[in-house]
Amino acid sequence: MAKKQFKAESKRLLDMMINSIYTNKEIFLRELISNASDAMDKLYYKSLTEGISGLSRADFSIQIAYDEEARTLSVSDNGIGMNKADLEADLGTIAKSGSRLFKNEAEEADEESDVKNAEDIDIIGQFGVGFYSAFMVADKVEVISKPYGEDQAWRWTSSGADGYTIKEDERPGHGTTVIVTLKADTENENYSKYLDEYQLHSLVKKYSNYIRYPIQMMVTKSRKKEGTEDEYEDYKDLETLNDMSPIWKKQKSEVTDEEYSQFYNQNFYDFNPPLKIIRSSTEGAATYTALLFIPSKAPFNYFSSDYKKGLKLYASGVLIMDSCEDLLPDFFNFVRGLVDSEDLSLNISREMLQQDHQVKVIERVLEKKIKNELLAMLRNEREKYETFFGEFGSQLKFGSYVDYGRNKELLQDLLLFYTSSEDKLSTLDEYVDRMREEQKYIYYACGESIEKIRQLPQVERLQDKGYEMLYCTEDLDEFTLKTMRSYKDKEFRSVSDDDLGIDTEEEKAEAKKADEENKELFDFMKEALDGKVVAVRATTRLKSHPVFLSSEGGLSIDMEKVLAQQANPDNRIKAMKVLEINAGHPIFEKMKNLYAEGDKDKVTLYSKLLFGQALLMEGLNVDDPVAFANDICELM
Ligand code: ADP
Repeated sequence: MAKKQFKAESKRLLDMMINSIYTNKEIFLRELISNASDAMDKLYYKSLTEGISGLSRADFSIQIAYDEEARTLSVSDNGIGMNKADLEADLGTIAKSGSRLFKNEAEEADEESDVKNAEDIDIIGQFGVGFYSAFMVADKVEVISKPYGEDQAWRWTSSGADGYTIKEDERPGHGTTVIVTLKADTENENYSKYLDEYQLHSLVKKYSNYIRYPIQMMVTKSRKKEGTEDEYEDYKDLETLNDMSPIWKKQKSEVTDEEYSQFYNQNFYDFNPPLKIIRSSTEGAATYTALLFIPSKAPFNYFSSDYKKGLKLYASGVLIMDSCEDLLPDFFNFVRGLVDSEDLSLNISREMLQQDHQVKVIERVLEKKIKNELLAMLRNEREKYETFFGEFGSQLKFGSYVDYGRNKELLQDLLLFYTSSEDKLSTLDEYVDRMREEQKYIYYACGESIEKIRQLPQVERLQDKGYEMLYCTEDLDEFTLKTMRSYKDKEFRSVSDDDLGIDTEEEKAEAKKADEENKELFDFMKEALDGKVVAVRATTRLKSHPVFLSSEGGLSIDMEKVLAQQANPDNRIKAMKVLEINAGHPIFEKMKNLYAEGDKDKVTLYSKLLFGQALLMEGLNVDDPVAFANDICELM
């Protein structure tokens, strides 16, 4: 029979598996057992939802058997089984869950070289790479499967990357048997250990202890010989190797962090240990148990639309949904884990679930629980929290800003910002604690980087007066603060804002006087700038710089910058800019003199140059760089 070829990407993964020098090859057993368990979950779920009688959970089991002479090891289940098309689709190509994740990693690694470095190999072990991992230990893999409700069984056979065959076969009942023919032992690798009862037993314990179906194997036991006093004989008996009760049903004290961590790695496609493990059970109105994890690193697709939030949802121990979105608010979308509730019906559909009162109640309880856990981490494990914030902080900021700041109260104490005086991350509460007695506002300054912010002309004076500022270096920051408006009754104020509440009466009077005396000049300058600014004003807020740009209305210059990256050029919104001139700067005297002398051409030229400077200092572009350059040349 002609061999069928694997799809290209499957072939490459297969190659990696076959040639793997990975030391932890033993995980293949875990993968086969997990697949068996999934297959039984699927059938059990089907039986419950479709009302198939005669299938009880107690009937499901996984059988492990080995044959030393034939060098085969088999894993059998009486789950849902696969027909010919399933075998083609599921084992001939990789397009599924864990494998897909792996593929992305492998692709990157592949570009560098054919030799797999240690890190790539490590990924093989940590991720669920599934069925293909059998090829790390096998010369040949056979799958004999009969789907539930059908009469024909099929045998899928493959010896590796050159392809596979499928032919008709027989099998007593529904389900799947995977038979691996182990490779010959080599100097470095002992494959025969997978034919050893004790070794197999401990592998099941190590990796598959919490599988909820019995994993059984014939084991050797010893008993007293009949009719003798102290003579013993060996006999074979079927034994269940695993613990079976789900990890989330156990008391916290019965499970080690290590075990939780392993459970997380195996079920949530992350090879890093979780940063935080959160256990939560029944509180008030809903009956449920939740086991949640905060990852230590954002998944590679976290910032793309591919990423979907959600928790696994179980109804009384039966998985009814792989990823239930409604259990998590968007701002906690990084949380992984599961919820098991006794209040949910198995038949519940996605649409019904959205309206389900219980789900809403659980969501609310979890939301509070997660928040409190994060707050506790912030208080007691600051460094860890800052790591967390580095990975997922922008999601919390986003959460405080969307929906018109509806979740501000919930999230505001979880936010961190760099500040000018601490030079490290600070909570808003810590900032407010440090505020000076007469300080009215919480100041913030925006820019691309902390270095750039420090150089902003408008920062200088606040700095001089000893006021602390939040440094906003992320696009989202200012939108967040503007939406939040205030914290503990202290309003947020941008350093570019018109009124910072720090001018003394004298300073105010001085600026006002300068404005009045130079009204004509300023009007002329505004005219010369041809609609680019809404006003020109004198300011006492600058020290060494001649000008800076402030804005009027709700849209700041930094927000304009952010929006410019997103909107299409035709409907970009611009901030209403105000050109503020340093009333104490020599250039101001110069302008006054030129205007008094009636040299309007020069005043126009200087106005343009000053405006250009101010734009550049804000990190904006001048509209017409060539004209700007020409203006400078003219001056020179
Ligand atoms: P994953 O388990 O991550 O989806 P695998 O490569 O392990 O990836 O398996 C691919 C698919 O093959 C599974 O999703 C499942 O549909 C099918 N499969 C594997 N093993 C079994 C089994 N024992 N019984 C039924 N289907 C199986």
